[in-house]
Amino acid sequence: MTPREVLALCRQKEVQAVDLRFMDFPGTQKHFTIPVNALTEESFADGLTFDGSSIRGWQSINESDMLVLPQAETAMVDPFMKSTLAMTCNIQDPITRSDYNRDPRNVARKAEAYMASTGIADTALFGMQPEFFIFDDVRFDQNVHEGYYHIDSIEGEWNRGRFSDSKNSGQQIRRREGYFPMPPADTLQDLRTEIMLTAQECGIGIAGQHHEVATGGQCEVDLEHVPLLQAADNLLRFKYIVKNVAAKHGKVATFMPKPLWNDNGSGLHMSLSFWKNNETLFAGSGYGSMSELAMNAVGGILKHAPALLAFCCPTTNSYKRTVPGFDAPVNLTYSFRNRSAAIRIPVHTSSSSTKRFEFRCPDPSCNPYLASAAVTMAALDGIQNKIAPGMPLDKDVYDLPSEELTAYAKVPDSLEKSLQALREDHSFLLRGDVFTEDVIDTWIWYKTTYEVQAIRERPHPWEFALYFDS
Ligand code: GLU
Ligand code: MG
Repeated sequence: MTPREVLALCRQKEVQAVDLRFMDFPGTQKHFTIPVNALTEESFADGLTFDGSSIRGWQSINESDMLVLPQAETAMVDPFMKSTLAMTCNIQDPITRSDYNRDPRNVARKAEAYMASTGIADTALFGMQPEFFIFDDVRFDQNVHEGYYHIDSIEGEWNRGRFSDSKNSGQQIRRREGYFPMPPADTLQDLRTEIMLTAQECGIGIAGQHHEVATGGQCEVDLEHVPLLQAADNLLRFKYIVKNVAAKHGKVATFMPKPLWNDNGSGLHMSLSFWKNNETLFAGSGYGSMSELAMNAVGGILKHAPALLAFCCPTTNSYKRTVPGFDAPVNLTYSFRNRSAAIRIPVHTSSSSTKRFEFRCPDPSCNPYLASAAVTMAALDGIQNKIAPGMPLDKDVYDLPSEELTAYAKVPDSLEKSLQALREDHSFLLRGDVFTEDVIDTWIWYKTTYEVQAIRERPHPWEFALYFDS
């Protein structure tokens, strides 16, 4: 869509308000609204000013206003707001008119440009598979609260009455048994379909939706494979749609990676393939019918995984998900078909053009622009330096004897360790000026100060169970 077409769409749909959106540095969407008459063809080139000093992680620019530049190709009639057209924006400095280096969307754009400049590939396709929970009301629901820190066994749940007759146990999905149940046990079927159809109306291609493994309320909707920047744009919109469809039905959606202790957490598996001149570069005759280039991309991602996790699993809660026994990756391995490895090469019945691998570490608390840009840079590094991925692991890593497992590197077990890994290993991200030193430093500073340190200082609810009577 061009700016002129956006203005025509506004007239055709009788739009009265234009909502301008962007993602802040840690990964939350922000917006402000202008009346439709304030949007002209010039607005697309000249931008509109806003106060950048109040946006998280952008403090250093608090001397000046910033500019948002609406991106015509992201225009959509908002399905929830009254007579409103929404657009995602780029951020610029109004004085220099340069793209702002801490704008996550800018990092993703630069990753695409860098990839093209290497001549290796012209397109990185990302298939995002967000998992998330829908609760009646996560803030006040005692069940959720209990799940977080009290329940220590399935018997405990029964004893506590969570699945007692008074709660209609016949229709409750039991802990870790939520995969593909039929309604009425699956009470969220219609809601997920509404999410799927609304996303499609907004131009987001959807491959399918289903209930996920965790206790009643965990959902997955798979987004179609699209180029990196569009995949991140789509995910931003998708989360907005999920939260608003849930709210419409008096429910709350969360993309927090591990809201329930002792049950599966939510991942954001990223299916990745590189293309050049509309031909896949991933199909071949190697392991899992993959090309050598694809295996080098796997090698690059595994090598840089500890640093990548600072962007892909960027919250303190992320590391409560990546523990053994819950379908989340704990070892830095790859495998054909094996879901317990960090990288899985799925089986494809259709043509070789659908060859791809699935990086399973990322979770949906990530900033999708930064995470997918970082994953692309690691894969490119693997290809440029012909990094071999080592031997595959075709066993269930959760059941391997510890002697065998020591041969494989493990995912870092805390945000602090991932940030430390990023501090030590980020030169691959600086190529093509994609991630600048300023972006890396600001990320580490922000995450350490406002999350690692903030959590360390606060008494944890389980500490009361352990220590209150001491
Ligand atoms: N929920 C699991 C995770 O945390 C993944 C389940 C699946 O394989 O889809 O990654
Ligand atoms: Mg899943």
